[in-house]
Amino acid sequence: MQRPVLAANWKMNHGPTDARALVAAFTARWTPRSDRTIIFFPPAISLTTVVHALGGRTDLAVGVQNIWTEDKGAFTGENSAPIAKDAGARYALVGHSERRHVFRETDAQTAKKCASAVRGGLTPLLCVGELLSEREAGTTNDVVLRQLEAGLSELSPDAIASTLIAYEPVWAIGTGKTATPADAAAVHAAIRTFLDKQIGPRAADVSILYGGSVNTGNAGSLLSTPGIDGLLVGGASLDVGGWATICDT
Ligand code: PEP
Repeated sequence: MQRPVLAANWKMNHGPTDARALVAAFTARWTPRSDRTIIFFPPAISLTTVVHALGGRTDLAVGVQNIWTEDKGAFTGENSAPIAKDAGARYALVGHSERRHVFRETDAQTAKKCASAVRGGLTPLLCVGELLSEREAGTTNDVVLRQLEAGLSELSPDAIASTLIAYEPVWAIGTGKTATPADAAAVHAAIRTFLDKQIGPRAADVSILYGGSVNTGNAGSLLSTPGIDGLLVGGASLDVGGWATICDT
């Protein structure tokens, strides 16, 4: 297993002023740990502020919450992988459930965004997850594996091996409901089996994160569950103390 990945998705919170303050408070209390990969996903407009506030610390990385499928051109309002990379991002979230369900992003677009991230020198963090209705219908694995297969479909085996995956059940995101470690582990195992079939032993290089109402109370049990290689945290990452506690789990 890779070292645990702790990723903070700030969603549409924290402009440059608040972002600077949060990062300053976090870096003041956080001692680098070589056994953790920590990534901040601020809003795009705060990305360079976060990069500068990190002051060159190599133990803390920054990612962009969304990119467009193309590298440049007439796409008003969008950001591309090369632009995010130039601003200091190393990672790109792709296929977050809010992109899929609020902005109607399709599987085909997630595939193009993953490809665009890799082309632009960013590591994609591909999010997959089922709706409550899909879980209740017993189709969780079908949905997750369909999203996964589509999202990775334009990547080479090498690129897949360096991708991050996050299993985020939609019904658990921002709701206070968390998948039990056993339920999450079952889906993670299905993802791992899929990756094994796709790229063989190199699948072991891929970290599979869990996300969905992670907090200081449940981070420990989730992270100690076999098959859960990290956590993608939304709301709870906005509180510096809580986020530091989760990173230290
Ligand atoms: C997320 O935004 O990816 C997320 C998991 O949010 P929350 O932790 O608030 O459920």
